[in-house]
Amino acid sequence: MDCQFRALLIVSSLLVFSSACSKKPAASADYPIQPVPFTSVKLTDSFWAPRIQRNASVTIPIAFSYCESTGRVKNFDIAAGRDTGKFQTIFPFDDSDVYKIIEGASYSLQTFPDPKLESYLDTLIYKIGKAQEPDGYLYTNRTIAEKHGGKGLHEWASVNRWEMDSVLSHELYNLGHLYEAAVAHYQATGKRTLLDIALKSADLVNKDFGYDREKVYPGHQVIEMGLVKLYRVTGEKKYLNLAKFFLDIRGPKGQAYNQANIKPVNQTEAEGHSVRATYMYSGMADIAAIENDPAYLNAITKIWEDLVRDKMYLTGGIGASSGNEGFAEPYYLPNMSAYCETCASIGDIFFNERLFLLHGEAKYIDVLEKTLYNSMLSGVSLSADRFFYPNPLESNGQHQRQAWFGCACCPSNVARFVPAIPGYIYAVAGKDLFVNLFISNEAAIQLDNKKINISQKANFPWDGKVEITVNPESSLKFNLKIRIPGWAKNEAIPGGLYRFTDDKSTRIKILVNGNPEEYQINSGYAIISRRWNAGDKVDFEFPMPVQKVISDERVSADKEKVAFQKGPLIFCAEWPDNNSGNVRDLIIKNEASVTSEYDPLLMGGTEVLKTSGMQTRKNLDGKISLLEEEPVKLIPYALWNNRGSGQMAVWLSMTSGSVHPLPAPTIAFRSKIRASKVTKDLSAISDQDEPNGSNDHSISYYHWWPDKDKWVWLEYDFEKTETISKSSVYWFDDGPDGGCRLPDTWELLYLNGNVWTRIIPKEPYKVAKNAWDSVDFNPVRASAVKIKVKLNKDFSAGLYEWVVE
Ligand SMILES: [Zn+2]
Repeated sequence: MDCQFRALLIVSSLLVFSSACSKKPAASADYPIQPVPFTSVKLTDSFWAPRIQRNASVTIPIAFSYCESTGRVKNFDIAAGRDTGKFQTIFPFDDSDVYKIIEGASYSLQTFPDPKLESYLDTLIYKIGKAQEPDGYLYTNRTIAEKHGGKGLHEWASVNRWEMDSVLSHELYNLGHLYEAAVAHYQATGKRTLLDIALKSADLVNKDFGYDREKVYPGHQVIEMGLVKLYRVTGEKKYLNLAKFFLDIRGPKGQAYNQANIKPVNQTEAEGHSVRATYMYSGMADIAAIENDPAYLNAITKIWEDLVRDKMYLTGGIGASSGNEGFAEPYYLPNMSAYCETCASIGDIFFNERLFLLHGEAKYIDVLEKTLYNSMLSGVSLSADRFFYPNPLESNGQHQRQAWFGCACCPSNVARFVPAIPGYIYAVAGKDLFVNLFISNEAAIQLDNKKINISQKANFPWDGKVEITVNPESSLKFNLKIRIPGWAKNEAIPGGLYRFTDDKSTRIKILVNGNPEEYQINSGYAIISRRWNAGDKVDFEFPMPVQKVISDERVSADKEKVAFQKGPLIFCAEWPDNNSGNVRDLIIKNEASVTSEYDPLLMGGTEVLKTSGMQTRKNLDGKISLLEEEPVKLIPYALWNNRGSGQMAVWLSMTSGSVHPLPAPTIAFRSKIRASKVTKDLSAISDQDEPNGSNDHSISYYHWWPDKDKWVWLEYDFEKTETISKSSVYWFDDGPDGGCRLPDTWELLYLNGNVWTRIIPKEPYKVAKNAWDSVDFNPVRASAVKIKVKLNKDFSAGLYEWVVE
């Protein structure tokens, strides 16, 4: 189908549809600032455009193929009675992945028309429609279970519909993603197929839920945003009311985990599961905008301040802890165990965009840009077919992007988010045209009922030069509002959690048609007010020096450490670029100069930073030695783990007190490790990183999860025969949330010749939490030693260190 015809079809079907809906919302009843949709912005840059292209050619096809091969699609067929069998997948929310990828494919079709993909969507939507029950209910797990007399209903769901939604059934969660997909598909193709399914579902939800009916709140938020989109496309107020209902009935007697411990309007802090949180805050922003609701506006504005002030990583990632997949207490931001789920970064971008659309302040886009270029982008590999779920800021080599996950929220979120990135560049309000992101593009913008073509030339994120050409259809007076990024005015993050060590900011010179232009700054924007004529050119350059960043001293994980930033990019040191592959043992010299250069051959072309530092090594007496000075190279954080797994660190030590030195040449460290279960974490047991207690996630550890109720073992094969007389172990125990506890018992054996012999300790073996468990024994000559561990009947176990002396 040719594009012009497609556009006509979309416009005409929108007209037909809107004339059928008499209750179109008043034009003013929405965000005071409106984004310029990605469909009006064509990227011409070499950073994002290829990534969006790979999302279309790689991510979306493989995501659909995993939906097919894992049985996510078959679930719809079985629910429809078009196939037989039990529920094919693990989680009751697996339907949502299919919806999210349809949403992404719909966006993608608007940039890359693809008749084959469009007809695949038609088939998929047909299957979804057939799986919908006659009254509109859509949840394949229950529909399939009912075909088997109720057998196979997921333990998270109850016999009655909706009842367990506030816990974990995810019935409303699935529907939220269905509604978002339906609107995207309708807007992309003009077809009502998925929209009709969504509306039938939403009408059932509207019938079943209400103050005098079912009052269960969604256990995982997202339906609020979905219903607002249905409201926008139909003008039916009932969907908007339902979205507000789902927020208003939330709390105060639920859990902090899903933000139900306090009524949303009374919340002031970011708490709980961070994807749920950001989806809820985004839904609240929609209500604040459309209903002009000051209580909602007040709550989300305060929550945002809390979030950036004490809970955000330097990369823009949020959610410090894996136990709740979410926020921890203020300033608790461990690097290696940082959760920073890819979905949470995407949710936080939704949230910050909405706050900008409400307040018109550049600081929200500062956070959006930080997240976009760092923690979100790290979620997907350069090849676009590998994904991170958590995005840590430090690695010992135990992290590796995966092709897919049992819980596949992150890949499907990437699939739908990436095609929409061009929609974050511009926004309009009255006579204001906002330029928020600096990415080469050609855009057609409606401002004040006039059409303006605008083109932007930039080489972001590598340098700060920007050239904007405006072409209004006729001479037009308006305000061009150019965002001055925080990093260009000595602000590492709004709120001061991180700061640059040197103020390198200068007032930015803006030229219009070659002449310096006087401008005012308001809410972080340089405002150029004038009558614009076709061909007017605006030039400016943001200074992009390399900045050293330090954190608020209350962030203990970053104490005595430094990070590097250039423009919006946060950098990291990674194993392939540095001597011996170790970066966690580096001490960066405070006075060392830092230079930057573009390496066209590295990972498709990237800026790299160069400085110098010293490796450190622990001695057998525990003291730390500084080794020779050596060059240190850094790459953008988002590009890490594209060359295999190994050490990586964003925060580098400045002192021997904060460094992880190379281990001392102990017997354990010099040994070859063997195990009943070999994982990437194996080297943790001899790395000499001592934990602060048995539930310290900030350093690496080894575990046998999910194994339980059996004997497991580890073995050190010594470099040479040794005399040993003592052994110590430090157990990992992540109770009550996690699956590891102290083991029932343990014992040691040593190898002499070909014979394994039990070691008889002087005191019986004991098992302690938050402390070393040590045993002394009569000296033995051994070429290897083995630790056997009996796992608890109900839990697995793990350990941080195992020492032999
Ligand atoms: Zn996710």
